[in-house]
Amino acid sequence: MLRKTLLFALAALPLAAQQPIRITADLTEAPRKLYHAEIDIPVSAAAAKAGTIALTTPKWIPGNHRPTGPVDDITGVVFTANGKTLLWRRDDVDLYQFHVQLPAGTTTVHAHLDCIVNARASDKLAVLEWEKLMLYPANTPGAKIAIQPSVTVPAGWGIGTALTPTGAYDPNAKVGGTTEFAPTTVEQLEDSPVITGEYFHEFALAPDVTPKHYIDVVSDGPDDSNLRPSVLAELNNLVHETGEAYASRHYNVYHFLLTLSDVAGGEGLEHGQSSDNGVGELGFADERHQISSSDLLPHEFTHSWNGKYRRPATLYQTDFATMQQGELLWVYEGMTQYMGNVLSARSGLESQATYRDKLAASAANLDYKSGRQWRSTDDTAIAASILRGGGQGWSSWKRGQDYYQEGELLWLDADTLIRKLTDGKKSLTDFHHIFFGKGGKTGSPADSSAGVFITGPLIVPYDRAELIADLNQVAPYDWAKFLHDRIDAINPHADLEGIERGGYKLVFVDEPTRVERATAGARGPAGANVWYSLGLRMGAENVIADVRMGSPADKAKLAPGQKLLAINGRVASPETLRAGVKAAKGKTEPIHLIIQTETYVKLIDVDYHDGERFPVLQRIEGTPAVLDEITKPLSPLTVYPKPERTAEADDNTADRPARQRRTN
Ligand SMILES: [Zn+2]
Repeated sequence: MLRKTLLFALAALPLAAQQPIRITADLTEAPRKLYHAEIDIPVSAAAAKAGTIALTTPKWIPGNHRPTGPVDDITGVVFTANGKTLLWRRDDVDLYQFHVQLPAGTTTVHAHLDCIVNARASDKLAVLEWEKLMLYPANTPGAKIAIQPSVTVPAGWGIGTALTPTGAYDPNAKVGGTTEFAPTTVEQLEDSPVITGEYFHEFALAPDVTPKHYIDVVSDGPDDSNLRPSVLAELNNLVHETGEAYASRHYNVYHFLLTLSDVAGGEGLEHGQSSDNGVGELGFADERHQISSSDLLPHEFTHSWNGKYRRPATLYQTDFATMQQGELLWVYEGMTQYMGNVLSARSGLESQATYRDKLAASAANLDYKSGRQWRSTDDTAIAASILRGGGQGWSSWKRGQDYYQEGELLWLDADTLIRKLTDGKKSLTDFHHIFFGKGGKTGSPADSSAGVFITGPLIVPYDRAELIADLNQVAPYDWAKFLHDRIDAINPHADLEGIERGGYKLVFVDEPTRVERATAGARGPAGANVWYSLGLRMGAENVIADVRMGSPADKAKLAPGQKLLAINGRVASPETLRAGVKAAKGKTEPIHLIIQTETYVKLIDVDYHDGERFPVLQRIEGTPAVLDEITKPLSPLTVYPKPERTAEADDNTADRPARQRRTN
């Protein structure tokens, strides 16, 4: 097992003896989409002797899986020392680095910089991920650089963060002004965002659990940050459920940071001691909106174990300048995708039926993805940094970051296989207890459930060989082949073995599931799902977003970007499109389309007669319902199981007029 944290010799000065960088982040102009920083950087003896210092901003941001450090938005950079402005020149090759000239006798460089903020800020709230403002000596591991942060926010705004305030601080007092935090390292500060806003609430979660857990919420609307009691109860459950599932905690405190805003943008970024979560203003306002957001917090929380504490060796680089390699993202993200959804059901954030509907939608999407004919799941992970973003046109043929959902099916497969191999005595939970229980065990059982070991934030890298060894420890099997066949090989179909071993099979029906109906509403004008029938993914304004290779739409030579004008003589809309598909069922007459393709209009007929098709999981009678066993609460402390909801209840919440705004 690799442990890179131990491979680096200590820097010349131990951290405690280092004079820390001091950084004050000023978020008072967040409503104007500008953040400011004042930074004092001690000059090392070597830099003073050389007369120059190389300072850098972070490039590879952990969790983004690509080089997203916003150096292009950093502006107004001025370096001074002893009241004099210093000359600087950007590095010709590494554009994140600034070479600053040092007059003789310089002991501290002061830097001022601004960052133009394109997302995660609104008139009423702001999120600071520190890559927007941090500047520190280049070519040095972040864990070896001491830094002491402070944050200034508008008067009356509250602050949520996993950083430790140096004085007495009550976030719910919402006083604004400057808050000073205890010294930490550049690596930890990068991992410790700050959330702030006028409409702020901090809630303590699961007070019986050590260490302490909180959720800090800011919203654009005055009421939304005051989360519903049922959501708080479900989050209490989530904290308890992770104790059972993982039997360890690798943080001194944990803060869920949540923004509810239609303008600040969606987000889900994991950190060791917190997570930066952004959903629409109404993301948790009622049960119906919650369907789309229910796995976000369990997913990002799980990353504290899987991704932050255990990190693929080649993904963990000790600076933020070296490429973070994606080859094991089907563990980092894929297992997290699996556990995020499982924990969402176990904690009651969603029902077991909703869990199954979402799994059906995801499995069908993968099984019908054209690009799996040429590209392995492994390649979607290796190429992660060039697969995030991009348009929807031909995206099914290209494949996207499928290691998330492919990984979910893989780990469900592994979980059900372990249960089968051990006659139900063991499961993936046993693997998690081994895999998340390595290294840094400093605590005795401190949770209310026995056997939960607590470390501070820690990074322990792993490789594929360790995964295989740990799986073998739980249940002897040819796990190397198991992983190779599913990850490295080209597979024309998705791995549905876990679903089937779970007592269900993926089928298609002509009525949408409750989840499909709820999310179709959120898709608005793009709401018609004709992907598994015609082979079209619709965007807004009746524009074709994607065409599935081999589908009836593909055979009719339809293309992304074309606009549907009419279906069977009726003006195009999600409703007339679905009506056209329904009407053609069992007939021989094709579906007549009028389409606009750039500056031309064409008539196109689609020969399709099998009606609407929506994916759903159907019970295989006479087999054990393992899937429902997996999604049952593990903790005796889980107190708020969500009842199965009726279609009528969904439809009733759909009618709440004032709450009908689109979520991100
Ligand atoms: Zn993730």
